[in-house]
Amino acid sequence: MEKVNLDWSNLGFGYMKTPNRFVSNYKDGCWDKGALTTDDTVTISECAGVLQYAQTIFEGLKAYTTKDGKIVTFRPDLNAARMKDSAKRLEMPVYPEDRFVENVVNVVEANSEYVPPYGSGATLYIRPYMFGSNPVIGVKPADEYQFRIFTTPVGPYFKGGVHPLTIRVCDFDRAAPNGTGHIKAGLNYAMSLHAIVDAHNQGYDENMYLDSETRTKVEETGGANFIFVTKDNKIVTPKSKSILPSITRRSLVHVAKEYLGLEVEEREVYLDEVKDFAECGLCGTAAVISPVGKIVDHGKEICFSSGMNEMGKITKKLYDTLTGIQMGIIEAPQGWIKVIK
Ligand SMILES: *Cc1c(COP(=O)(O)O)cnc(C)c1O
Repeated sequence: MEKVNLDWSNLGFGYMKTPNRFVSNYKDGCWDKGALTTDDTVTISECAGVLQYAQTIFEGLKAYTTKDGKIVTFRPDLNAARMKDSAKRLEMPVYPEDRFVENVVNVVEANSEYVPPYGSGATLYIRPYMFGSNPVIGVKPADEYQFRIFTTPVGPYFKGGVHPLTIRVCDFDRAAPNGTGHIKAGLNYAMSLHAIVDAHNQGYDENMYLDSETRTKVEETGGANFIFVTKDNKIVTPKSKSILPSITRRSLVHVAKEYLGLEVEEREVYLDEVKDFAECGLCGTAAVISPVGKIVDHGKEICFSSGMNEMGKITKKLYDTLTGIQMGIIEAPQGWIKVIK
């Protein structure tokens, strides 16, 4: 299909309306069949559960064009499974996993002229989400829900080259030990907004959150998991029940072990040991991996030897291998690439 005429390599990460989205409603205990629509607005009660008590969850994944011209998406089954876990934790109905994947495919196909061409660095970001839609004033779960999927083209993450990030150890907490840090819920983001605005005002790109119980262990940033590399090329990634299980991080762990033959430790990581690592990166769908150059802990600086100008050596290998798999240049593990058309 013809592509729309957009300046793909200069797109930012912002919302741009595309022609089609998927909408399904849950009422009287079941999901309707749902349909694609061109209506980009939502009409709900002024007292909808989502507006009063923040009963909303979301997912994020991408579609892109591979080297041989196919439109594909990456491991959408894992987004479906994670959204199921998020729904259960917020007492929301599960949107069936097979229909989640099917409708991700349908929406991307219906907007395929907005899937950026191979080599542009841009992608079509896909946002599935669900919210309580009927009036709720006494605190309880809603009875009715809406599930939607929209898409928006987004530009290359590393526009104008890679710039390693400077992050600070944050005094605010992101997640409680038995809270909701492990699910993808809007509420986790609402409470992080003050911390990120404050970080930006102080000149930092991101916050490193610590475990809120002991404040000695590394958790994650507001929207990405950490990956560290030791001086002897071992991968270390924090393990905690309040970290959001990043699909990118889980995929990188597989790539490290099976493609690069690296040893991987998924374990508790103490802030005290971070100074001994050689490389640090943030991983998530948006950037795959963003290198971290410096972490500032209340005036004390931890500078990674990989520096402020480029990705660390191992970080780059991980990045190149996973993006190679995604772009159809390197053979993917069974089931990782879902071909849309
Ligand atoms: C979405 C998200 C990530 C990254 O997950 P991916 O599946 O790799 O995109 C990491 N941390 C938080 C808090 C998130 O919401």
